[in-house]
Amino acid sequence: MLKVGISRVHFPVTTLGPGKRLGIWFQGCSLRCEGCISVDTWATAKTLIPIEQLMMALSSYLPLVDGITISGGEPFDQFDALLAIVVQLRKKTEVDILLYTGYCIEDIPEQLQQIKPYIDVLISDPFQRQTSQTLRLRGSDNQRLHCFTPQAKEKFAYYQQAVTTDDNVLDVMFDAEGVVWFAGIPKRDDFIKLQTILKQQGHQLKASADKVKY
Ligand code: SF4
Repeated sequence: MLKVGISRVHFPVTTLGPGKRLGIWFQGCSLRCEGCISVDTWATAKTLIPIEQLMMALSSYLPLVDGITISGGEPFDQFDALLAIVVQLRKKTEVDILLYTGYCIEDIPEQLQQIKPYIDVLISDPFQRQTSQTLRLRGSDNQRLHCFTPQAKEKFAYYQQAVTTDDNVLDVMFDAEGVVWFAGIPKRDDFIKLQTILKQQGHQLKASADKVKY
């Protein structure tokens, strides 16, 4: 039975592509980009869930979603599970599917060929802390946005452009344990600024990126 390690699933996500989206974050990343803000998704999942169980949970959201964003962690590190999930999502919905990977497409040609028919958009390449950040949906400007379908070319033309102040938004969620987490693409050092502001007000913010010393 094919299983997958998932960090979280959330709906609606409004900052990772157009419309109200279903967000699926994979757990586990072998790439370990310096400056990654999702350090909590690096470790391999302690618990794996059957793909069928995940699909049952996702199915209830599908009538409501404008699109689907799959991120991580590194989805391609669990490629068989990733492929099975997008194949089943494609059968169940026509909304656009946006997939993030930290791999360069040149390094994953076979996987890309297999998965391309089932997704609309791929954002590829590792996060680079030393590279500028001016493009929508991307943490650093080396990351490339590839549109594979006519639907994607139309819906994501806006996201090929440079960021403006309209892009200074994040989704904020609170989980059952009271942990606050964010979805979206923060500007460089946004969380350091947030830590400073909260400290001035007598609060303490522990961010997952703080767990790693480079
Ligand atoms: S930015 Fe993405 S690919 Fe890079 S270490 Fe973080 S989760 Fe992994």
